[in-house]
Amino acid sequence: MFEREALITVLLVDDDEGDYVITRDLLAGQDRARFRIDWCATYDAALDAIREQAHDVYLIDIHLGPRSGLELVREAFASRPSAPVLVLTGQSDYSIDLEATALGVTDYLVKQELDAYGLERSIRYAVSHQRALAELRRSEERYALAVRAANDGLWDWDLTHDRIYFSPRWHSLLGQAERAGEEAPATWYDLVHPEDLGTLRAAIAAHLAGETQLLEVEHRMCHADGTWRWTLSRGLAIRDEAGEATRMAGSLTDVTERRRAELRLQHDALHDSLTGLPNRALFMNRVEHAVARGARADGPACAVLFLDVDRFKLVNDGLGHAVGDELLVTLAARVATVLRPGDTVARLGGDEFAILLDGVERPEVAVVVAHRVQASLRHELELDGRALFMTASIGVCVASTHTAAAELLRNADIAMYDAKRAGGGLCAVFDDSMRRQRVDRLARERELRHAVDDALLQVHYQPIVELASGRIHALEALARWPTGWTPVTPVEFIPIAEETGMIGALGLHVLRSALAALVGLRQASATCDDVSMSVNVSARHLGDPRLPEQVRAALDEAGLPPGALTLEITESTLVQEPSQLHELVSEVCEAGVGLHLDDFGTGYSSLAVLRQFPVDALKIDRSFVSALDDSSDVIVRSTIALAHNLGMSVVAEGIETVEQLDRLKLLGCDYGQGYLFSRPLGAAAAEALLAAWPPPLGPVAAG
Ligand code: C2E
Ligand code: MG
Ligand code: MG
Repeated sequence: MFEREALITVLLVDDDEGDYVITRDLLAGQDRARFRIDWCATYDAALDAIREQAHDVYLIDIHLGPRSGLELVREAFASRPSAPVLVLTGQSDYSIDLEATALGVTDYLVKQELDAYGLERSIRYAVSHQRALAELRRSEERYALAVRAANDGLWDWDLTHDRIYFSPRWHSLLGQAERAGEEAPATWYDLVHPEDLGTLRAAIAAHLAGETQLLEVEHRMCHADGTWRWTLSRGLAIRDEAGEATRMAGSLTDVTERRRAELRLQHDALHDSLTGLPNRALFMNRVEHAVARGARADGPACAVLFLDVDRFKLVNDGLGHAVGDELLVTLAARVATVLRPGDTVARLGGDEFAILLDGVERPEVAVVVAHRVQASLRHELELDGRALFMTASIGVCVASTHTAAAELLRNADIAMYDAKRAGGGLCAVFDDSMRRQRVDRLARERELRHAVDDALLQVHYQPIVELASGRIHALEALARWPTGWTPVTPVEFIPIAEETGMIGALGLHVLRSALAALVGLRQASATCDDVSMSVNVSARHLGDPRLPEQVRAALDEAGLPPGALTLEITESTLVQEPSQLHELVSEVCEAGVGLHLDDFGTGYSSLAVLRQFPVDALKIDRSFVSALDDSSDVIVRSTIALAHNLGMSVVAEGIETVEQLDRLKLLGCDYGQGYLFSRPLGAAAAEALLAAWPPPLGPVAAG
């Protein structure tokens, strides 16, 4: 701390020049330390010099003319001297000595007794002591500053006497009046949350026993306002030579906000932000627990319902996402009202929800709950100013002893899929055949992708006959599974193509193939020049804004006029999405492409919708044609009347018998199609059929 080489600056205050010279020479006469001496002869000059605080030490004579050196000390230093003061006196006087001590003077030296080394040592000690004090003061100030800045409460535990000093901040953190002093540990313990007290005591014991490097424990404490605050107590023990802890000091921090933020984050990670319901992760966690509990009790103990909103896409796409969101929120609220407190409803994503019924072992019970859920959804719901009804398909799976949680949810999903295919608004209980069907369906999907990607699907053609003349008016193009593959009917693969988004590519392939086949036919026989081609377009494909351009391009590519093509769309398509389709369909038909309404009579379309679309013909569904055998011709008769009144023609589908044909002719039906004339045929066979038409002994010739 004290460097030998450092220069010590000394201010000597003495009104006697002779004494000044003696002192100066004394210091100059030693070789231990280096001094610079400044001299002031008067009280006032000394006062100014001291106030500049430019010296390491002051040597002040006790007599300064009429005034005293101690007076100078009193006036120059308001409280304590900023540097050590050594008072020089002619002779020792105890009362002056005492007064000097009271003023904070460091030493009191009798001039006559001074020698060079004695003076040097006095000064050195005084300066060194002063520096140590200054350093200590700075360190204390730093500490006090840090404590205030840290915003933590402090405690200092005297373990020997079992008393704890709590800082004022410690108390104020807990809403108490600031006070400082030593208190019993109960001051702390009494405020700790009963559930956390054990943890805190154990952590303290572990640290005192030397098992932890640091005491660090989060616990709740009771605030004066009666609320619980999360706090962090940290501390460090001080040990004696034997390693025994004698003292432990530390801090108290309020971490309530941080804990709250953590809880919020935790909540957000496990909940759906739209509905506030548990998300998939939390749901699976609960299912896992329920399954594990069931396994321990050696029996199945829970059921999972998988719920999917029917036609949600229509709402979302048609009325906007805000309305879709509102529907989901309403659904979440309604489902919650019909469940028991222990059950969990979660949103898995999109319009998929799942429900865990804890303790439910029998499928019948789960089905009752599913029906209750469905009933709650059926109440009218007003969204965006319109009344809507929502239904949902629900799949049920009850845990058997060995079901894993993920499997439970997957099986419920498979069952839901079955319920949905059965028409929506229904509920199905999982059984193993469904899984096999799902596996089959996945295989179908793969095959279909292969067939579509590699253009392997074939197209067959079925003639549409003008009943009055018996002449072939058109051909309907029908997609066929590749030959040589295990047969799959269009009724099975078209919906798969629709659901998987392959329908656009499939439809385009059929359209191009059909137009190419028509070009071939027209080239082969001049009598085929007015035969047109009917192509089925699925609802999903109709919604594709690229459709009009695709149709135009296909016609251009084939070099055929628009009149050579008719699109068949099913009646149910129009009922579901009339406004959206209107623009696209009109755009295609304005160019001259025909439009037939397929499977008419099965889709509940209204007259208003019918009139919105430029429909050329209604195709009466096969089911009504076969019903003609039972002499119930009401529907066929009224459909024909309706069509003719609206200026449309009628095509009867599925004519299989001569009786049906005769009846239809009698009722004034314009066109017919069915096995009676011909089954759908490959392009070459169709060409041969057309060339040989009318068949010499065929039913048409007969008619
Ligand atoms: P659809 O458009 O109503 O076609 C008529 C269906 O009735 C065809 O079935 C046809 O083979 C069948 N059929 C015709 N005459 C008779 C008959 O006398 N008796 C009986 N029992 N059936 C007859 P297919 O080819 O199985 O097609 C079924 C449905 O699949 C079609 O009904 C159509 O909705 C759809 N489909 C077929 N090909 C395509 C396609 O390329 N694109 C689209 N989007 N749908 C297609
Ligand atoms: Mg059709
Ligand atoms: Mg049809």
